[in-house]
Amino acid sequence: MRTKQQYMEGLGKMKRNLYHNGEKIDRLDEHQMPCINTIGTTYDEAEKPENADLMTAKSHLTGETINRFTHIHQNTEDLHKKQDMTRFLCRKVGGCIQRCMGIDGTNAIYNASYEADKLNNGATEYHENFKKWLERFQTEDLVGCCAQTDVKGDRMKRPADQVDPDLYTRVVEKKSDGIVVRGCKLHISEASVADEVLVVPTRALRPEDKDYALAFAVPGDWDGLKQVVTIHNYRERKHFPRGFMPGATDSYIIFDDMFVPWERVFLCGEYQHGGALALLFALFHRHSYSGCKPAIGDVILGTAALAAEYNGIQKTSHVRDKFAEIIKVTELGYAAGYTVSDLGKPEVYMPGVGFMPYGPGSYIPNSIYCNVGRCLTGEAVFHETEILTDISGGVPATFPYEGDFVNPETKDLLNKYLMRNPDISAENQAQFWRYVGDMLCSATGGINNVGNYHGGGSPIMESIAITTQYDIEERKELVKGLAGIKD
Ligand SMILES: Cc1cc2nc3c(=O)[nH]c(=O)nc-3n(C[C@H](O)[C@H](O)[C@H](O)COP(=O)(O)OP(=O)(O)OC[C@H]3O[C@@H](n4cnc5c(N)ncnc54)[C@H](O)[C@@H]3O)c2cc1C
Repeated sequence: MRTKQQYMEGLGKMKRNLYHNGEKIDRLDEHQMPCINTIGTTYDEAEKPENADLMTAKSHLTGETINRFTHIHQNTEDLHKKQDMTRFLCRKVGGCIQRCMGIDGTNAIYNASYEADKLNNGATEYHENFKKWLERFQTEDLVGCCAQTDVKGDRMKRPADQVDPDLYTRVVEKKSDGIVVRGCKLHISEASVADEVLVVPTRALRPEDKDYALAFAVPGDWDGLKQVVTIHNYRERKHFPRGFMPGATDSYIIFDDMFVPWERVFLCGEYQHGGALALLFALFHRHSYSGCKPAIGDVILGTAALAAEYNGIQKTSHVRDKFAEIIKVTELGYAAGYTVSDLGKPEVYMPGVGFMPYGPGSYIPNSIYCNVGRCLTGEAVFHETEILTDISGGVPATFPYEGDFVNPETKDLLNKYLMRNPDISAENQAQFWRYVGDMLCSATGGINNVGNYHGGGSPIMESIAITTQYDIEERKELVKGLAGIKD
């Protein structure tokens, strides 16, 4: 396993292909450091003996101890631990831990590459190639991001029907030694600080969409790959640092007729499994949300409770009711994820068919509970923000900059006039409202809300998954029986 320092040294050696606000930047650019520090937590915590059970696993390929973020789930216990590890780490950094895309992408490709080889009756070696790639990923303890979301153009048209065929990522040429890929994946979290980019399709595909049934992995600085990066950091602190300063980045990843050798290609043309892979990645990723969203619920609850206390309204009944609302969503989301893990098996649900074996035997989360949990927590994001806004009042929106709290001309006056609860020092009240301002009123706070709402798929996508997989007919029969209706 690597240390955070070794992870950073790896980033330092990568070629310059990051574009940010009109300039090319290094991976270790100071603006990227909050995100690197966030991911660094996954290395630091894995080193601690008390976290070994949660944060490490035994590789099923080599038998070696590996960071759990590189592991393929071998049983329901692994699914439980992934959920709990995610909640644990997201609490540490106070938000997204930025490393789950890799574990979710690898678990999805591991299964789909196996099925695609089966479909091809052994004519392809996607799965063996993926296992070789995976062994290196595990041994070198690499960070992976997962590039699924395509530009998608006209939402009502399928990939092959778009006016511009490049609006979904596709293979434009097949050669004896590899393929040439063109397209753009967008909103790709932590790609600018990842060692490897895993690419999977966005949606269900038809035979005429087969050029879009594509999965591969390349290093983040591969020739022909450009990243245009948005960096989400909170306002810098000079005088009153936060306990932990998290950060995030998202990239538009442009594949500019990029060559990918066959040994890095894990699906190419098998449209049936392209669609399955799209759903599988979403499924694994929605399971990650059952860890991170409860952690974010913990943070929102703690913030709301402190805001109430600092405003002296913590005992009022409307405030207690609002705490209960946050707790209900948080723990129902966690409970759904727990059930997802417990019911996990090496099978997927095929609408109209039911559960059927899928992949070489690794464990896949239960789809219904996964979608129910992610949808419930995703849709609650803005309501939770509303609760926090309500309890805080207007102060986080207009709170003075930290420099005014060190300027002798304003410092004492501000400390006098910010006072609310007399039992809490002015300094602590000021530090708290700075934190709430980061959450509620910063550009990054807004981006987090959109990410927590849409990440892993818009709520409507989860609703579609739920209604197409849930046995509604069986419920109709149930009620017919209860009502005494005889067809
Ligand atoms: C901060 C952030 C981080 C992200 N990180 C990643 C990442 O690391 N990797 C990754 O692959 N993706 C990532 N995403 C992308 C995320 O998964 C998508 O934003 C999400 O799936 C929604 O897709 P979209 O943005 O294209 O919106 P759309 O799908 O365009 O949704 C807009 C609206 O259109 C509706 N709609 C779309 N298509 C149809 C249709 N055919 N029929 C009817 N209605 C339709 C939707 O339901 C929704 O209401 C991230 C997104 C954010 C915001």
